[in-house]
Amino acid sequence: MRVPLTARFAGGTLGSMNSKPTVEQFMQDCFRERTEALTRRLEIHRVYWRRFYRDGCLYDSRRGVIEASEGEKMVSVTPTDVGACVVSTGKSIYRSRYQISLAGENWLIQEVDMECGRCRGLENSAQCAGCGGSGWLSWQDSLRGLRSNCRKISAEMMTKEELGDRSYRDTGV
Ligand SMILES: [Zn+2]
Repeated sequence: MRVPLTARFAGGTLGSMNSKPTVEQFMQDCFRERTEALTRRLEIHRVYWRRFYRDGCLYDSRRGVIEASEGEKMVSVTPTDVGACVVSTGKSIYRSRYQISLAGENWLIQEVDMECGRCRGLENSAQCAGCGGSGWLSWQDSLRGLRSNCRKISAEMMTKEELGDRSYRDTGV
C-alpha cells in the first residue's frame, strides 16, 4: 500500500525552515543532476571521439546516454523501515529499484537493484533460478552475472571455433 511520503517524511512542523526534501524530490534531483553530469562528460568525450571515429561508427560513441538518463521516471515509492524504495522505468528495458535511507536531513541511495532479466518479476518467478523468486538482482549481482555470461560465451566461441575447424577438415571438400 502506497503511503503519501510527502505527508510522512516532509519533516518538521508547519513553518519549519529546514524541512528535508521528500523522497520524490530527492530522486528527481538525482535524475536531473545525473543528466547534467553526463552532459558535461559527453562534451569532453565527444571532442576526443570525433578526432578518431567516423560519424557512422557506433563504437564508444555513447549515443543515447542522455536520452536514457532523461527517460527514467519513478513508477512507485514505497516506505521501508529505514526510508523508502523507489521503482523506476525508462532508463533501460528493465526497471530499477532504488533503496533509499535517511542520512541526517537528507536521503542517500544505499543500493540499486535491477529487474531480473529472466522472469521480470512476473508469473512463475518463484522458481526463477536467476533471482530466487524476488524478481530483482542487486546491481553487483547483475555485474557478476554479466561477467560470468561473458566467460561462458567466450568459452563457447572457442569451442565452436575448434569444432568448426575440425568439421571443415572432416568434410574433406
Ligand atoms: Zn527472476
